[in-house]
Amino acid sequence: MIHAVDVVVVGAGAMGATSAWRLARSGRRVVLLEQFGPGHTRGSSHGATRIFRLAYRDPRYVALAERALPLWRELEDAAGEVLLDQVGQLDHGRPEAMAEVATALRAAGRPVEQLTPDAAAERWPGLRFDRSVVHSPEGGRCWADRTVAAAQRLAATAGVDVRFHTPVEHLEIADAGAVVHGAGASWRAPVVVVAAGAWTSGLLGDVVPHPVLRVEADQPSVFAPVDPAAVWPSFLHHGDPPDGLDRPLHFDAYGVASPGEGVKVGGFGTVAPADPRDAGRVPDPARTSVLVDYVEQWLPGLDPAPLSTVSCLFTTTADEHFVLDRHGPVVVCSPCSGHGFKFVPAVAAEVERLVTGGGQPTTVWRLDALR
Ligand SMILES: Cc1cc2nc3c(=O)[nH]c(=O)nc-3n(C[C@H](O)[C@H](O)[C@H](O)COP(=O)(O)OP(=O)(O)OC[C@H]3O[C@@H](n4cnc5c(N)ncnc54)[C@H](O)[C@@H]3O)c2cc1C
Repeated sequence: MIHAVDVVVVGAGAMGATSAWRLARSGRRVVLLEQFGPGHTRGSSHGATRIFRLAYRDPRYVALAERALPLWRELEDAAGEVLLDQVGQLDHGRPEAMAEVATALRAAGRPVEQLTPDAAAERWPGLRFDRSVVHSPEGGRCWADRTVAAAQRLAATAGVDVRFHTPVEHLEIADAGAVVHGAGASWRAPVVVVAAGAWTSGLLGDVVPHPVLRVEADQPSVFAPVDPAAVWPSFLHHGDPPDGLDRPLHFDAYGVASPGEGVKVGGFGTVAPADPRDAGRVPDPARTSVLVDYVEQWLPGLDPAPLSTVSCLFTTTADEHFVLDRHGPVVVCSPCSGHGFKFVPAVAAEVERLVTGGGQPTTVWRLDALR
């Protein structure tokens, strides 16, 4: 049996669920197909929090985060709960990189402070600083699990046919759109949105041209603050690139506080290749010990014994930008590369634009089109 709808969205993670909600709000018949159950931990969007920041070296991301801000407030209003806390964001490390962050924020007219390591340590004694420090008071954290649950709930309330435990096995381009098949049924629509995270490449196959997407697992750990009353901004530590190549989106370590849980710390020293089909991914103790060493050296405000460690998938393009585009009847929405969550509502708005805007040539990099 083939069901006919206006839009099929594959994947009910942060991107797919929020996109489905937006699409249904404007009256479309939307089906949202998710292979796992609500609250699953196999993809990229689980866990309490993600860093929100406007602080990027690349001004295009500053602009995208600016665009996301009011849309986060709109999503919060609809959900009736707090999804974004602007508790501040610290970037520290390589002076050249920090100068670029400060310049990009200033050029956009956003508040920014540059501090010496001593001044920063006095203000945030839980962190150690050795070089340049940039404070962006508008950064902070997104509540990740809460956002995904809210988007799924809002989508259902807006009339989306939300189907969990419905893996899409096959996608085909048909005359007047595309058809997806899975779980013993098929859905046909003029537009199919593939927001399948780490499974995107497997689903698109040869049917839709797309760049190479590398899938890796990161395994951040949560650490207890020594002072439970301390307020932690989110932070990124920009070290010297070990290979000497300066990649503007790279940083060595990150941290974000989840009140009630602790401070989550992760870093690219703890990332390893992964297969999304592997259901039994367990954190590697050797990689956790890399983080423990980092906490001992750089985060005196945390007890270095990890409280918990989770595994989470990164889907990364070669240049760490996003894939967000339309090829015929298929919209590809894969904004991960480890830094997509903060943009969720802006990405969903772009998906809506791509759904309504008709066919566009495929490109990897669409941020220019968003400005
Ligand atoms: C450890 C870690 C830390 C991060 N930190 C930050 C941060 O601090 N700040 C930030 O902005 N971003 C961060 N990110 C990135 C951010 O979390 C991702 O950009 C975002 O969660 C991606 O959401 P998604 O919806 O694309 O993917 P997912 O959440 O993985 O959703 C894809 C969904 O599609 C479903 N699916 C796949 N294939 C099929 C199929 N065939 N049929 C049906 N359903 C299917 C999957 O089950 C899944 O639910 C981090 C990511 C990780 C892993």
